[in-house]
Amino acid sequence: MQDVVGTWRHLTRFAPRTKVLVTLFTHILVDRAGREGHSSSQCRAGTKSGSGALAPEGKFDLATMKSVCVYCGSRTGDDPAHRALAEELGTILGQRGILLVYGGGRVGLMGVVADAVLAAGGDVEGVIPEALHASEVGHDGVGTLHIVDSMSERKAKMFALADGFVALPGGTGTLDEVIDILTWRQLKFHTKPLVLLDQAYWTPFIDLLAHTDAKGFGHGESSEQYSVVDTANAALTTLEAAPPGITKVPLDSL
Ligand code: AMP
Repeated sequence: MQDVVGTWRHLTRFAPRTKVLVTLFTHILVDRAGREGHSSSQCRAGTKSGSGALAPEGKFDLATMKSVCVYCGSRTGDDPAHRALAEELGTILGQRGILLVYGGGRVGLMGVVADAVLAAGGDVEGVIPEALHASEVGHDGVGTLHIVDSMSERKAKMFALADGFVALPGGTGTLDEVIDILTWRQLKFHTKPLVLLDQAYWTPFIDLLAHTDAKGFGHGESSEQYSVVDTANAALTTLEAAPPGITKVPLDSL
């Protein structure tokens, strides 16, 4: 990987006009190479489980959303519509062959979305801290279950594995995960797209973000950092329409 990046840098050393493009491409290479491929296994974080981002022929498909991280509740909530939405999202991901990255549990909407992807024939990678393996019932049916040491490691790994993010309804854990993606975007650490799915559920959260903007605590318009949609199809269409996300910082600085 370093060789590829190094070669690009060398080739363009005397062509300043292409430097911006090369920098952009380099970020994409670094970002994609940080991902891990899929296999049917449980593994400790940091263990390479697959081929990484380079396609066998060595090409990158920059236009495709290959993996989506879904944040959602470890409970199903009171509204059956939320479960139905999680099921619909999982089914669409599975049918389109998009890898689901998620928190790794069998419980709540997390379990619903993972089971729906698997039922539709799709691939799933879960990331769960050792300490939550029992309480969130680590899903042993998924392709790869990464067992990590901490919550922050979990979030960084889920971030690294995904091309984009969808947030379904959830509790404080879901909010925490969404806030991190938003904060990292505002800090210009990355440009991966985030979609909040279920406008009615997310409206109070969106209002709070607008409130921070209105009171002068925003970093630009918060609403520019995410999209809001009401259907699983719209969530996928929105992610696929977004420019390929770039990570601009080393993953261990997240
Ligand atoms: P909740 O929305 O509260 O049901 O939580 C959804 C998921 O977020 C669960 O898998 C929680 O373990 C997870 N979670 C909660 N807090 C954090 C955190 N600080 N970092 C990573 N995951 C978290």
